[in-house]
Amino acid sequence: MAKNKQFVEKVTAMEDDFGQWYTDVVKQAELVDYGPVRGTMIIKPYGFAIWENIQSEFDRQFKETGHSNVYFPLFIPKSMLQKEKDHIEGFAPEVAWVTHGGDEELEEPIVVRPTSEVLFGDYYSKNIHSYRDLPKLYNQWANVVRWEKTTRPFLRSSEFLWQEGHTCHATQDEAEGETSQMLEVYADICENYLAIPVLKGKKTEKEKFAGAEYTLTIEALMHDGRALQSGTSHYLGTGFAEAFDIQYLDKEGKQQYVHQTSWGVSTRIMGALIMVHGDNRGLVVPPRIAPTQAMIVPVAQHKEGVLDKAYDLRDQLKEIARVDIDASDKMPGWKFNEYEMKGIPVRIEMGPRDIEKDQVVLVRRDTGEKEFVAMSELEERLPALLNEIQKGLYDKAAAHRAEKTSVTTTLDEFKQKLDEKGGFIKAMWCGELQCEEKIREETSATSRCIPFEQEEVSDKCVCCGKDAKEMVVWARAY
Ligand SMILES: [Zn+2]
Repeated sequence: MAKNKQFVEKVTAMEDDFGQWYTDVVKQAELVDYGPVRGTMIIKPYGFAIWENIQSEFDRQFKETGHSNVYFPLFIPKSMLQKEKDHIEGFAPEVAWVTHGGDEELEEPIVVRPTSEVLFGDYYSKNIHSYRDLPKLYNQWANVVRWEKTTRPFLRSSEFLWQEGHTCHATQDEAEGETSQMLEVYADICENYLAIPVLKGKKTEKEKFAGAEYTLTIEALMHDGRALQSGTSHYLGTGFAEAFDIQYLDKEGKQQYVHQTSWGVSTRIMGALIMVHGDNRGLVVPPRIAPTQAMIVPVAQHKEGVLDKAYDLRDQLKEIARVDIDASDKMPGWKFNEYEMKGIPVRIEMGPRDIEKDQVVLVRRDTGEKEFVAMSELEERLPALLNEIQKGLYDKAAAHRAEKTSVTTTLDEFKQKLDEKGGFIKAMWCGELQCEEKIREETSATSRCIPFEQEEVSDKCVCCGKDAKEMVVWARAY
């Protein structure tokens, strides 16, 4: 046991230093390594396998809702990025420039895409002519570059992977419907696959996407009580269409600007996964996105028949779940720790005594609970257990969020609750930027969203005491 203990101690306790705990887990679970340029990351096989499972569910739902995948270039000419004024102002501070090709200075500097609205805008202006060309429902899986000052793997990296949806519609109604629909897709995957409860709402004017009419968002609460924006969907109105001259001839023969949307989810969501479900033993991966749902660890595998039985079991269970086996000559204790660190939902132990009794031992990663299951019942029990774990993780995260959500009516109370337990603060707001900024200055909390599900916790703004317009959820955020 001494050896096991030593291994576990490599992860800093989250209560002691949450930031260090995060870094330790990311490294120890073999999700990423740091790239040679500051702020870049190497996503390792295990990290990428989890991302791929998340990605494939998003991709499936995008296609189910009628979208096609495309690929646009990494480079944007400077002049093109400047066409939409709010947009360039929003992104300018973190844009990476290409100024040279070999030794020669370029005539026009090139931007490495921080997002691709302008490229799509330019393309659509050349490819949309009539109402018959609409809607255009495109999605791209790509990398983007944002020159961030402070970086952390997954949460804020100079280069990250994401998808960006870019759509064009004939009418505002249709485009707004799309904006809401894609937010629902995001929320569904977060809740039902990643087991992360999300708060759905609208961003304030200050927090909306640069160049959008409005931004819808899903916000998740991390274990340390800070929020993480986990996906956004923007209604762009006709702003980009006017800047890029994307017009179509309607049925009456009149020129009209298209209404656009864009929406994105990135590898940041991996950060949410780690910080919502992880514990002091490492990562905890929800079964529905786990690359390996159950790991068979043979015990006393040198004894005759144990390995054969374990391989038979793997072959039998492969049909019903993603099951793997570790038959390496490492000690079982080492393996136990390793797969706990990696957050594999279930460990299946099988030794000579189990074989004799025609049973296996199932151990849950999330609770550590052990159960003995007869071989004859395993095909039924394993999928059921995976479902229980999936649901258990969601329920635990939802309970944590509920516990860390406070309702406040004064700024003093706001500060007190935030210092006491962090989390989401529900408070009324007058709608004035001044109050939003003052709250940020005094509490370091930002407005996360104006939830769709409104509550009237008071009729006065928490900051200025004037008449309140809506309830906002605030939090310190990543
Ligand atoms: Zn106010």
